[in-house]
Amino acid sequence: MPPFRRVALIGLGLIGSSIARAVRARMPGVALAGHDRDADVCETVRRLGLVDEVAETAAAAARGADLVVLAVPLGAMRAVGEAVREALAPGAVLTDVGSSKQAVIDALGDLVPAGVHFVPGHPVAGTERSGPEAGFASLFEGRWCILTPPDGTDPEVLGRLEAFWTGLGARVERMDARHHDLVLAITSHLPHLIAYSIVGTASDLEEVTKAEVIKYSAGGFRDFTRIAASDPTMWRDVFLMNRDAVLEMLARFSEDLAALQRAIRWGDGETLYRRFEASRAIRRAIVDAGQDTPAPDFGRSH
Ligand code: NAP
Repeated sequence: MPPFRRVALIGLGLIGSSIARAVRARMPGVALAGHDRDADVCETVRRLGLVDEVAETAAAAARGADLVVLAVPLGAMRAVGEAVREALAPGAVLTDVGSSKQAVIDALGDLVPAGVHFVPGHPVAGTERSGPEAGFASLFEGRWCILTPPDGTDPEVLGRLEAFWTGLGARVERMDARHHDLVLAITSHLPHLIAYSIVGTASDLEEVTKAEVIKYSAGGFRDFTRIAASDPTMWRDVFLMNRDAVLEMLARFSEDLAALQRAIRWGDGETLYRRFEASRAIRRAIVDAGQDTPAPDFGRSH
């Protein structure tokens, strides 16, 4: 028995469409409704047959659903919450996939009608692409989905939401929302900020031409450009809505960067070697944990 009978997806981009594909592939019999504010996205989802019904409004999609998943940028969560609230039936579960959790709780907490269960979530899986054509059914396989249930969440409801995510191939962890935001600030948000920053710096250089930056990018730069090609709306919202945690991690990062700068200035090879060696161990641990491939060049096909 699937944990939910009818799932409504609000936002049908990379994450929403990947959930739709994974539900289709792994939970036959579950009815899928969807809505996106972008008419072209709705048309694409219809053409690809990703859901049973593409609704004209978020409320129409949510009506009758026992699970409603908000898969829109963080800055749109409140508006979407306002749009669906009148359609949420008592007993329904409302969740989201936003990359920052306390901000979503702040945005939606007071909107949730009595009798509706609100359990925020975040699948830690994605790519630098966006839109429904970028989605794929195996996106969540072997990846973690972090749920941040408020105190007092009904364990039966939590169990069903966990079963939903494990049914899509994910592994589930429960966490306090603020802790989630700190962890993701260092594992996801700061790396994106650094990538956006370094790509911007390189393209602003005058003594090195843009053509050279692109021509010799295989030296390392191109790996930053993959991350820095991520959706600007999504990432603007992440930095606006996980501000405190990102600033805290950024302060630590700046101190560590200054230490490396000092080691370079003073010719302190021992410090540099020690730091770089420790980084290799982290890479090996990520591969051992099944979160990346050990294949040369990250398994990229050429
Ligand atoms: P996406 O591919 O850009 O899709 C988001 C879709 O939501 C777009 O089609 C967007 O339309 C639509 N939308 C925006 N406001 C809306 C509204 N008020 N009502 C209905 N639809 C609306 O983005 P995504 O990558 O799927 O990200 C969605 C959420 O997942 C974000 O909260 C993000 O933080 C989270 N997330 C992303 C990743 C990742 O790697 N991408 C990973 C984990 C979690 P417009 O284009 O017209 O705005």
